[in-house]
Amino acid sequence: MKVVVLVGGVGGARFLLGAKTALGLPARGEPADGSGEHEVTAVVNTGDDVWLHGLRVCPDLDTCMYTLGGGIDEAKGWGRLDETWSVKEELAAYGAEPGWFGLGDRDIATHLIRSRMLRAGYPLTAVTEALCDRWRPGAQLLPVTDERVETHVAIEDPELAEQRAVHFQEWWVRYGAEPDARAIAPVGADEAKPTPAVLDALAQADIVLIAPSNPVVSIGTLLAVPGFTGALREAPAPVIGVSPIIGDRPLRGMADKCLSAIGVDTTAEAVGKHYGARSTDPEGLLDGWLVHTGDTAEVPGVQVRDVPLLMSDVDATADMVRAAFDLAGVRP
Ligand code: GDP
Ligand code: CA
Repeated sequence: MKVVVLVGGVGGARFLLGAKTALGLPARGEPADGSGEHEVTAVVNTGDDVWLHGLRVCPDLDTCMYTLGGGIDEAKGWGRLDETWSVKEELAAYGAEPGWFGLGDRDIATHLIRSRMLRAGYPLTAVTEALCDRWRPGAQLLPVTDERVETHVAIEDPELAEQRAVHFQEWWVRYGAEPDARAIAPVGADEAKPTPAVLDALAQADIVLIAPSNPVVSIGTLLAVPGFTGALREAPAPVIGVSPIIGDRPLRGMADKCLSAIGVDTTAEAVGKHYGARSTDPEGLLDGWLVHTGDTAEVPGVQVRDVPLLMSDVDATADMVRAAFDLAGVRP
């Protein structure tokens, strides 16, 4: 069975561990015997990507790669295990800006290789594949596009008292999403297109899952790449989404800040309606929508089911994925 999962970073990576487990694959790494009866392909958000100190940083791709490859700092949910920060301290001693983004020493090796390959002309898809040669995530990790697409946020600058656009990372990491977002825009999306690998994966999938990732800055950026939504709508496989909102609150993170910027309520129902019904809405994506036990959602044209949606451990997450398989009527 071929399972395609649309993901962002931490939430998406956790969900991928469950998807692999539900298919009988090891959560981390590859099957010891190399068997590949079932396949997981992740289409990963690139809107958080940023050049810092001459290095190309891809937070969501790296979170997925390190999580599935066993190199993640599990406690933080992002970054490398046993990280050290000498380079960051040295940069600070030079007064080098930006100082608010922490690049760890181990992590920098990844960014050095990526940046060198990009400058040599390799597309991000090929670079990611090369990095995964080391990490063996046991799932294919595909950036949604090889073009540069970066999420920018219009905020009232707390120091200048005027509106300006900042990179999503600056809003999220430096300001803790504190000044309200007036608008969120995927800069560069107009000229981007999904990669052939992404289009193939969608066309060949037996099921497409939308992870409980941030609907605006993770999933929303995938959808903003021209041609992606159309390809998803035309995919022969059923599309099942998983709500990131439980009891009218996002779990970990500040997804509510992003949802209010686009005028969507922080409820499982509102996010389900925002994704829309593939059968009835001209731009709709969903055939099925999973909400947390006790939550309700009425999304016309979409089959809604409530099941436990807390990714407390890999087995609980695998049960969520099995519930999505059930709702879609597919089984490995
Ligand atoms: P990021 O790129 O690191 O911000 O991560 P994602 O966009 O992939 O995931 C962030 C989203 O995951 C947040 O909006 C959370 O609401 C959601 N999330 C985190 N943990 C859980 C969980 O246990 N269950 C569900 N349903 N959603 C979760
Ligand atoms: Ca992210």
